Amino acid sequence: MQGVGFRPFVFRLAHAHGLTGWVRNTPAGVFLEVQGEAPEVDAFVAGLREEAPPLAVITALESLEIPPVAEQGFVILESGGGATNVQIAPDCDVCPDCLRELFDPADRRYRYPFINCTNCGPRYTIITGYPYDRPLTTMSGFPLCPDCRAEYEDPADRRFHAQPVACPVCGPRLFLRDRAGREPEGDPLETSMRLLREGKILAVKGIGGYHLAVDACNQGAVRELRRRKKRDEKPFAVMSPSLDEVARYALFDRTEQRLLEGPERPIVLLRKREGNPIAPQVAPANGYFGVMLPYTPLHHLLLRDNFTALVMTSGNLSDEPIVYQDAEAGEVLSEIADFFLVHNRGIHVRTDDSVIRVFQGNPLFLRRSRGYVPRAVRLPAPQRSVLAVGAELKGTVCLTRDDRAFLSQHIGDLKNDAVLRSLEEAADHLERIMDIRPELVAHDLHPDYLSTVYAQGIDGVPKIAVQHHHAHLASCMAEHGLEGEVIGVIFDGTGLGTDGTVWGGEFLLGGYRSFRRLGRFMAVPLPGGDAAVREPYRMALSHLHSAHGEGVFDLGLPFMAQVPEGERKLFLAMLVRRINSPLTSSCGRLFDAVAALIGLRSRVSYEGQAAIELEALAESGDTKEVYPFESGEAGGTIEVDFRPMFRRLVGEVRDGRPPAAMARAFHNTVAAAVGRVCETLRAGSGLDRVVLSGGVFQNRLLSEGVFDLLSGMNFKVFIHRLVPPNDGGLALGQAIIAGRTEGA
Ligand code: ZN
Ligand code: ZN
Ligand code: FE
Repeated sequence: MQGVGFRPFVFRLAHAHGLTGWVRNTPAGVFLEVQGEAPEVDAFVAGLREEAPPLAVITALESLEIPPVAEQGFVILESGGGATNVQIAPDCDVCPDCLRELFDPADRRYRYPFINCTNCGPRYTIITGYPYDRPLTTMSGFPLCPDCRAEYEDPADRRFHAQPVACPVCGPRLFLRDRAGREPEGDPLETSMRLLREGKILAVKGIGGYHLAVDACNQGAVRELRRRKKRDEKPFAVMSPSLDEVARYALFDRTEQRLLEGPERPIVLLRKREGNPIAPQVAPANGYFGVMLPYTPLHHLLLRDNFTALVMTSGNLSDEPIVYQDAEAGEVLSEIADFFLVHNRGIHVRTDDSVIRVFQGNPLFLRRSRGYVPRAVRLPAPQRSVLAVGAELKGTVCLTRDDRAFLSQHIGDLKNDAVLRSLEEAADHLERIMDIRPELVAHDLHPDYLSTVYAQGIDGVPKIAVQHHHAHLASCMAEHGLEGEVIGVIFDGTGLGTDGTVWGGEFLLGGYRSFRRLGRFMAVPLPGGDAAVREPYRMALSHLHSAHGEGVFDLGLPFMAQVPEGERKLFLAMLVRRINSPLTSSCGRLFDAVAALIGLRSRVSYEGQAAIELEALAESGDTKEVYPFESGEAGGTIEVDFRPMFRRLVGEVRDGRPPAAMARAFHNTVAAAVGRVCETLRAGSGLDRVVLSGGVFQNRLLSEGVFDLLSGMNFKVFIHRLVPPNDGGLALGQAIIAGRTEGA
């Protein structure tokens, strides 16, 4: 891997053991020869694994004995030519050595916000081309001063060939500006801290884009940030200087702690502590805080001994990509931010923060981005190079080379041209820095997705359309290295099926080459199409209409007030005649329907919001009850019919049963349905491996319920660990399906 300081590490290790020889990078990996006393050579080999630099990953280590030669000293040789197998490191948190120097008054980089070394600092976001070398980074405009150059050229130094190395003399610097571009008097950092303490909103330039920052404990400031960000109700992420501060407002276990402190520095979802000091507007109607620790020197300087937590939310307007260029920031964010804390080191490619929640002691990615990109996912077998472009929501692209798949950073929902451009930039960036020219392009079956249109416009390579839920199945299989056929339980919000309807509650049987749809949730109309996604009450009415028929409004449930008396006839007509109401078997929409029915939420500001709140509510509902449901053969597949459940729910809502208990029993019911269908599919096919994929499996309660149930029935259950179960992981599945397509 490039930029992780492996060769200098080998150099220092060889010196420490008094060995002679050489080390060189080649397309096949790192080659090295050492010569010396046997015990020293053994200690050296052990050290290669045990003391390797934090960013290096050794996948295999082989050695053989060769005859001694006459030589002196140990040297680093130029990289070998030939076909490349280059891998670039992800962006990385400040390492312990640099952190010590950052707060050491005697160090020449004391309080310098751009300190880094071969073990840490920006990588993916500053590289502009291949090979990774300073002129091909956004550091090209900062010539090294003599002190930095000496470090850069000394193989024994921690900064040997560290491309982003810099100091206050030669490197980037900080600026603080107000909306009019004026720079307030005084030190930018000290002034920023004071402004934040006073409740001001700052746009802070980071590694992969801008954050909007306010003091998370200041209610007025957080409320003002929400007001200025407009209709956005998404929870804000927060950043704390240390675990001690995190412990004041959130609960975490060892796995969560390890993730928080790891060099990738993702946002980790942590349960809220009762009576915490964080402003309620940070994450309303949500049982969790998204928490991260500082990951740039600037963050460390801003937060240490200053704040319990800062809100650090992506600097963007709703539905737009995160802002990463300075001119753009001045325009777009000046409606929101009072001040701008910026610097003159360029961000070459925007990269949002990653988001993880812990599930059964392992990370479950909700968003795989900064810190993980462009780390490879190993495929079960080598294949032709593919570019896969994802679907519509939570866009990412995936590039493959041999048996490695490189998934891009999170791009956002592809609903406008700005996001599409960002997707193209991500694809170009990955192709360039990885030196990959794809031979095939894979895209979703949906002809109208912007990603599909983009894929179709790429000249000179065959295109392969992949069914959405098949891609989910393959994505989960690929990251577990599975071959052959499996049962796929694929639950998500939306995806075009091969029959032209909208799928989302699917039981598939298949592998990379093909699949069959052997089970599904009963389809109901999606009243108003996209409007039904923003207004879950529409799905509640659709399911109730299917359960109760024309008299649905006579049920007189509170949520029905969403449809005024005068419009009810029209609404029913829309359902019956399917006007702008495609049929859907969506599991995400089933969650929406139940959330609306029990009075939790009738409208949402982002896809999946109702389901997230339903899960939070269900966590406090202590019941093992399962609602009645039916399953039977319909049109060659098993159909799961939840109408009996809806009839029961209507009665319970009328009787005033606590919503938490209903939410929990609903989760239990979906899990029970999975168990029943999988049992039938196993009996018919002999298959006992089940993959769980689709955005609904971001739901920890449901994932746990399904996992435990199926495991108890002796199924081998596979859940996502390396890529998100949502559409952010879809491109991986598209890529392997395309790569396995014969004759393409
Ligand atoms: Zn460092
Ligand atoms: Zn310098
Ligand atoms: Fe999906």
